[in-house]
Amino acid sequence: HSNPEYQQEAGRVRVAVRLRPRNLEDRISDSDFADSVELQPELKRLKLRKNNWSSESYRFDEVFTESASQNRVYQVVAKPVVESVLSGYNGTVMAYGQTGTGKTYTVGSLGRDDASERGIMVRALEDILSTTSAASDSVEVSYLQLYMESIQDLLAPEKINIPIHEDPKTGEVSLPGASVVRIKDLDHFLQLLQIGEANRHAANTKLNTESSRSHAILMVFVRRSVQENGADEIASQEKASRADLSVRHGAPIVRKSKLLIVDLAGSERIDKSGSEGHLLEEAKFINLSLTSLGKCINALAENSPHIPIRDSKLTRLLRDSFGGSARTSLIVTIGPSARHYAETTSTIMFGQRAM
Ligand code: ADP
Ligand code: MG
Repeated sequence: HSNPEYQQEAGRVRVAVRLRPRNLEDRISDSDFADSVELQPELKRLKLRKNNWSSESYRFDEVFTESASQNRVYQVVAKPVVESVLSGYNGTVMAYGQTGTGKTYTVGSLGRDDASERGIMVRALEDILSTTSAASDSVEVSYLQLYMESIQDLLAPEKINIPIHEDPKTGEVSLPGASVVRIKDLDHFLQLLQIGEANRHAANTKLNTESSRSHAILMVFVRRSVQENGADEIASQEKASRADLSVRHGAPIVRKSKLLIVDLAGSERIDKSGSEGHLLEEAKFINLSLTSLGKCINALAENSPHIPIRDSKLTRLLRDSFGGSARTSLIVTIGPSARHYAETTSTIMFGQRAM
């Protein structure tokens, strides 16, 4: 690409850490106030303390303390991806972490009573809708749940086992049969998200599982007409290098791109030794998808020519929105308590492997 900043960004996963504020449970359990993490946001560094004598430091692209606002997290982690999606590239924003550390708050919060609480999904749509023009452009969404290698439509929950189709030529991923809803305005999107949440809850109650066991995936399809000689920020050489994403229709160019926002299943190790039957199967599937995601992120970070994208449905879904010319941000969420030291360490290591 002609834009050097973009060159630096594309193909690498940007990783931020976010610390959840202490909650009541942390306060009750940690009588000695034993935090296991210390943040140095100005150095973009996190210190993980095992005990009073030993600690390790890790650097990230960004480190958010417990007082970081939803807006700040959005601006730093998601906005660059959203902007690149608006310029015609695909992109992904994912939240990874132990259950209860703030993944859903970070990406999926509706902020019904207080708009400042809105998470990445709502803020992204707000930006996309305000940048696109209602008359000539379109913004469509699908909202899915991936549970035990099966994809369910959260906007039409009777649709289960939705197949993944990968175009052999372009590598483009699509989900034949999944609902795709054209978004009229932000209120319309908020309603859909709320319906999706309710369906997710109902489906999981029926399956007798918790929503922390499944991945929730919002797909946003953006189609923009851009006047070729218009006051667009993209240089014309760059347009040429992106021919696969642009369809020429005379003078205006139609730019198609896709944004994925993923609330991953809880990363906590599920004790397989104590589980049997269904729970054991569930544990294996979660481990499969998160492990294969980790392997793909690793491979990207190491510039490996082989990204093992085929190993799970989660990574197959990400195929055209991850690596290559796509922009990817990962936010890892952690809690402050020392009693989760082992899980926090494993979450931090997952994030580090992407760097
Ligand atoms: P997860 O999805 O990772 O299981 P949640 O997003 O459900 O975790 O967060 C667990 C609880 O902590 C929720 O009640 C959520 O509102 C709260 N919470 C998480 N992160 C924050 C934060 N940064 N600020 C305020 N509350 C938070
Ligand atoms: Mg959650």
